[in-house]
Formats: sequence, C-alpha cells, structure tokens
Amino acid sequence: MKLTDLNQDNVFNLKRSITDKLIYIMGKDPGAAQPKDWLHATALAVRDRLVERSLKTAQAQNAQDVKHVYYLSIEFLIGRAFTNAMLALDIQRDVQQALAELGVDAESLPDLEHDAALGNGGLGRLAACFLDSMATLGISGFGYGIRYDYGMFKQQIVDGQQVEGPDYWLADGNPWEFPRPDVQYRVRFGGRVEQTGETMTWTDTQDVLAMAYDIIIPGHATQATNTLRLWSAKAASELDLSAFNRGDYQAAAAEKNLAENVTRVLYPDDSTPAGRELRLRQEYFFCAASLQDLMGRFLAQYSDLDRLPEHVAIHLNDTHPVLAIPELMRILIDEHGLAFPRAWAITQKVFSYTNHTLMQEALETWPVDMLGYVLPRHLQIIFDINAAFIDAIRAEFGADFDLMRNVSLIDEEGDRRVRMAYLAVVASHKVNGVSALHSELMQKSIFADFAKVFPERFNNKTNGITPRRWLSQANPALSKLIDDRIGPDWRCDLEKLSSLKEAVGEPAFAEKFRAAKLLNKERLAKWVETHMGITLNPHSLFDVHVKRIHEYKRQLLNVLHVITRYNRILANPDANWVPRTVVFAGKAASAYHMAKQIINLINDVATTINADPRVGDKLKVVFIPNYSVSLAELIIPAADLSEQISTAGTEASGTGNMKLALNGALTIGTLDGANVEMRESVGADNIFIFGNTTEEVAALRARGYQPREIYEQSAELQGVLDMLRDGAFSPSEPGRFQAIYDVLLEWGDHYLLLADYAGYIDMQDQVDTVYRQPDEWTRKAILNVAGMGVFSSDRTIAEYAGEIWHAEPLAL
Ligand SMILES: *Cc1c(COP(=O)(O)O)cnc(C)c1O
Repeated sequence: MKLTDLNQDNVFNLKRSITDKLIYIMGKDPGAAQPKDWLHATALAVRDRLVERSLKTAQAQNAQDVKHVYYLSIEFLIGRAFTNAMLALDIQRDVQQALAELGVDAESLPDLEHDAALGNGGLGRLAACFLDSMATLGISGFGYGIRYDYGMFKQQIVDGQQVEGPDYWLADGNPWEFPRPDVQYRVRFGGRVEQTGETMTWTDTQDVLAMAYDIIIPGHATQATNTLRLWSAKAASELDLSAFNRGDYQAAAAEKNLAENVTRVLYPDDSTPAGRELRLRQEYFFCAASLQDLMGRFLAQYSDLDRLPEHVAIHLNDTHPVLAIPELMRILIDEHGLAFPRAWAITQKVFSYTNHTLMQEALETWPVDMLGYVLPRHLQIIFDINAAFIDAIRAEFGADFDLMRNVSLIDEEGDRRVRMAYLAVVASHKVNGVSALHSELMQKSIFADFAKVFPERFNNKTNGITPRRWLSQANPALSKLIDDRIGPDWRCDLEKLSSLKEAVGEPAFAEKFRAAKLLNKERLAKWVETHMGITLNPHSLFDVHVKRIHEYKRQLLNVLHVITRYNRILANPDANWVPRTVVFAGKAASAYHMAKQIINLINDVATTINADPRVGDKLKVVFIPNYSVSLAELIIPAADLSEQISTAGTEASGTGNMKLALNGALTIGTLDGANVEMRESVGADNIFIFGNTTEEVAALRARGYQPREIYEQSAELQGVLDMLRDGAFSPSEPGRFQAIYDVLLEWGDHYLLLADYAGYIDMQDQVDTVYRQPDEWTRKAILNVAGMGVFSSDRTIAEYAGEIWHAEPLAL
C-alpha cells in the first residue's frame, strides 16, 4: 500500500477527461456548469478508471476458474461512493488538483453526493463493508440486492417529532451505476401448479421483469474489483396501446405501475396485508433474478450440476433471501429434471446463512396462505423439504413428537406459517452468528433443537468494519497521525495498529492525538451550528449515541442519565462539572410508536436543557436528524464516549461500537454483542462496562423482576421518572410521556432499564473522573485504537472465505 504524491500526467488526463464528460456525456457548457454537474462529470471520469480494473478482474476470474461467492442481501447501505473510489484508486490528490486547475471548489463536491441508503442500519452496512473487504482480498464476490427507487426515508424533526419524507436518491441520476438492459429476467408470481406424472408445471403466472444495474466495488491496494448487481422491476408486457388509444390512460398504465411497485420502496409499510405481500414479492423478486443470473453464469462454463457447489457459494444475509432455497430446488427439479434428493444435496452444499437476531418478534415467518397464493410451487417445495427433514429426524431420533413439532418448518399454531430461519438452517451447510456471545446464545435459544441435530453446522463470525471508510475516509486527521507513525499499511492490515501501543507513553504523540480529536469535534460543531443553529463547545466531552432508535438499544436509559445529570447540576451548580455534549442520532421505524416517543422525548429534553441558563455549557443535548452513513462519518470521529448500552443478550454484535472505538472513543457499555470481545481486545481497564450480564438478566426475569421496587428505593430515579410523568419536558402537553413512564413502571420494563440505572449512573461518574485527567483519557483512547485490529471486516471475510465459502483469492 502506498500513498502516492501528485502526478502531473494524471492531473492533465483527469482535467481533459472531466471536461469531456461534462461536454460530451452531459451536454453542458463548462462555463455554465453548476457544482453538481462538476461532481457528476468527475465521478464519471473516476469511474472510467474503475471500469478498466473491473474488466481486468473479470478476465482474471475466468482464466483462474475461481469460485464465485454470491452475497444476497435485501439491504446494502453503501453511502457515498465518490471519496471511496478516489481513495481506492489513490488519485484523490490528483483529482483535487485537476478540479482546482479547472476553477472548481473540490472540497465542497463530496457533500453534494446523495447517499445510497438502500438499507436501514447495521445489517445493510455490514453488507457494504463486506463487499469492500471481498474486493480488497480478491475474493470473487457479487452482491445481489434491490435497486429501490426510494431508499431509507428522510427523517426531519418537526416540533420535536420524527417526520418521514421520501428519499429520492436518484434525483440527480447515479453516475456510479451501469444500467444493463441486456440483462433482464422474467420473475413469475401467482398462477397455479399442474401435475403430469412426476412433472410439475407452474403456469398462468403474472410476470415482472428484473433489470440489472451494476455498481463497481473497488478493492483497495489491489486492482481487483467486484460487482454489486441491483435489480429493478419493469413491466413484462408492452404498453396496452389499444387502452391508450381509447383514452383509458389509467388502464394503460396500471400494469406498469403494479409491476414496478415491487422495487419502489425499501420497507413497504407492513401494517397492512397488502404491504406485507409486497415485501414477500420483493424478497422473491431479487432471489429469482439473482439465481437466474448466477445459474446462467455457471452454465455458460460448466454443465455438470453436481459440481455447482465447487464453483458457487450463495450466502444469505439474514432470512430475507431465504426464498432462494426453494427457487434453486425448483430450477434443479423442474427445469433440469433432477430428482429431489440430488437437488437437495446440491442445494445444501451451496447455501450458508447468517443469523442477525435472537428476538422472536424479528424472526420472519410467512402465512402459508399467502405463500401459496404468491408462490404456489415454492410452497410445495417447502412442504417437500419439511417432509424429508421430519423423516430424517424420525429416523435418527425416533418418534419424538415434541422435537418434530419444534423443528418443523411450519408453525402450526394459529394461522399456519413458514419459519424462514428454520428453512435457512435446514438448507445451509453453515449457519453463523455475528459475535461470540450471539453465536453461543443462538445455539442455546432459538436454534437449540437444531444445534442438537446439526452440531457441526453452527459457528461464529464476529462482525467487522472496513478501515477504509471508517478510518481512512472518515477521519483524515487521525489517519495522517497514524500514517506518520507507522506508515499507511494499516488500511489493509488493521492489526498493524497494535504497534501504536508503543506510542502510548509519549507526550508528543498524545498531544497530536488530542489535536486530531479536537479538529473532528470542531468539524462536527461547525456542521451542527450551520445546519441546526446550536452552538457546541468542542472542549466538552462528546458523548455519542448513534444507531437506529429501538427500545432494546436503550436510548431511553441514556435520557434517564441526562435528566439525572441535569437535576444534579441544578442542585449543585458550583461543583466542578465536566462539560458534556450528548449527541443522539437515529431513525425509528415508521410504525414503531414507542421509538418515536423516545425521539420526541430526547428532543423535548434537549430543548428544555439547552434553554436553561442555569446549565450553560455544563450540559448540551442534540438530536441530529436523518442519521445516515455520511452523518456517521462526520459524527463518529468526533466522539469521546461511545454509548453501547443495550440490554445484555439483545444486540447481536453491533458495528457502531467498533467504528467509534477505532476512531478513539472510549466505550460505555454492557457485556452485550461484540462489546464482550472489544473488552478483551482493548483491555478491561480501557472500557467502561456496567450492568447486568446475560445470565443475570435471565435470572432477574426468572425471579420476577419488579421495576417498581427499584423506583421506590431510589429517590433520584423517582425524581427523574416523575418529571417524565408530570410533563416537566412537555409543559404544553403534560401527559405526553405518560406511556414511557408506564412502559417502565406499569408494563414490566421489558429491557430492564431500571435494573441497570444505578450501575450506569455510577459508571458515568467514572467517565467524568477519567476525563478530568487528560493524559489518562488519551492513553486509554490510543489503546482503544491500537486494540481494534481484529475488528476489520477483512478478518471477518477471510474467515467466511476459509471456513464457509471455501473461496480462494484471485491472483492479480
Ligand atoms: C454502523 C451503522 C449502523 C449500525 O450501528 P449499531 O450501533 O451497530 O446499531 C447503523 N446505521 C449506520 C448509518 C451505520 O453506519
């Protein structure tokens, strides 16, 4: 890995290429071009250089007969592509120089790019980090997903409340994608199955076309690239010209609209049956298109279907792509004439599956009725798989009816439903969790019976994050400091950061480390001032809680601390307070009422505290709207303290925790998800761990957890909760937060906030104590950065490639 100096030839070529794009592709006069036009033209010029690499990579992959890994995910939370592409090509300085010579303000361009927000949170961002690492390691990986017209909704805060708006990310066009009108597949829905002898024919279907759009994923410090192929829905039949000519424009357009609705939005509102059915259609749509595509690629080179597993690995990122399993079975049986056992043997060797949640309510199931109506042939195949599986269970374990009912792919209680996670487990040769704790709990809870049946199948792959985006791109100040100390190789070998431990006692290094952090805090403060009109003190402790808003992630526990601190400041204004800025960001699912209430509360508390002259600089609270990858890149490098305070046993891994520690934040957290492994890596002295452990949570619940007892024993907690109940933060509507109070005291406090309250408040005092000793704080922060090497997604992907996919890297 090298970081090259300015190259005048490159600058010259780039200038010509950028102006050519502007004039001949976009048809714009350079004299009249707007900054967005320059961004678009520059992106196209940069993209040319990716295309060269991409063509070479494809040639090498063919020549070397490498195994392809197909990563199926309903979300890819890519964020912006411009800076990442320049860094991968190592041409950022040349591009900046070329733009400067063209009279363009290069610095402002990256912020004009829309985020590709084709995802909602950690799961989608993981998929994006994995694509980056696969390309960087030279694994031949294809991402397959959906090209939503509208990505994750845009969040505004109006009168303290979340308001959702459409995210039309394609408004200015997307210079990074290649539409492939020559790559279109027919995806079938509905209809019925006809049987003639052994042969099943699926007929009378309503069809939609899937058209491919390709995005090149560049590897770093390598010429290798990969492809993210996203599918967009198109009407299968031509315009109904006779209806059109009759003047019946609605009828003429009806089918087109219906078809294209399949890829209109990420997360159709699932509070109605129509919304849920649309979601099911989305899932099948991208599985069916992806399988036709990958089977076509396989059959172009090989003919022996039994050897499919030697050349193809299909990975299921959570259960949304699980319909790929019956779809492959259907292709092998109905289209290629294989017998069921042979098709099943192939299928099991091809698929692997990652579980992302243990929460019952988040495990996907589909009503048998709906599946039978939308995908009648697939429902038959699922029943066939289930019958064969239950037979195998009987053969091995005897007539254990409890076991059979427990592991059945069909939940027979209430309306019958297909359990998608179970189908994934039965059909995959490997099933992994995403942190050591999560993988252990997965085998003890939701998949306990399967772990007995298939003990060799379950394994752990602790999540990781790409250092390219989450340090090199997001934090130039710290990156430069690290480069100066240990060279640039950490970008593709993050374990190299461990040598920063040697710098830990050096005052000069600590000084520069603090200066980099301050710069990042000033950068965030400036953004907040400009966009929100709130002034932050960059010398205060930046306490950062950014992630989707969910009760299990316990933003509400953080709010309880904020109110506690507020009360303590008012009671004791002259004490030596460490000034704090508490930063929240995150979206609540549009139908998740309690999460929206929590957002409302955060904003009302912020309004109250920020306006209270008695508090001044000692405490500020901001809720930054519309959390996204780009905002994460701005906020995370500015954090001193990282809030990772989920109820133990609920957060599968977390990756926000890793991003923050890699950028030199200290973690305050529970022993949950990957926090457990982070504590091992950075050292127990350098992380603030509090709260009930998973075992303690279980024991507490088993003995009958009584939140009211805790409330009654703590005057301070009582004060805080009574303020919520009595409308201290919502004087215009005193009852506004009654439901939040009730969740904690009347409805059982399911996520045990009150059980962890005292430990959390005490640990926050500890945080202040350490922050008052800047040398000590900086020492711990440097040790956090130095200890994060193992959390590179390069390590994660190397493990997947070696132990699950059996895919070798390409030699370039
Ligand atoms: C990393 C990331 C997440 C995941 O955060 P967690 O703290 O692990 O839940 C969510 N959203 C965005 C935009 C991210 O970058």
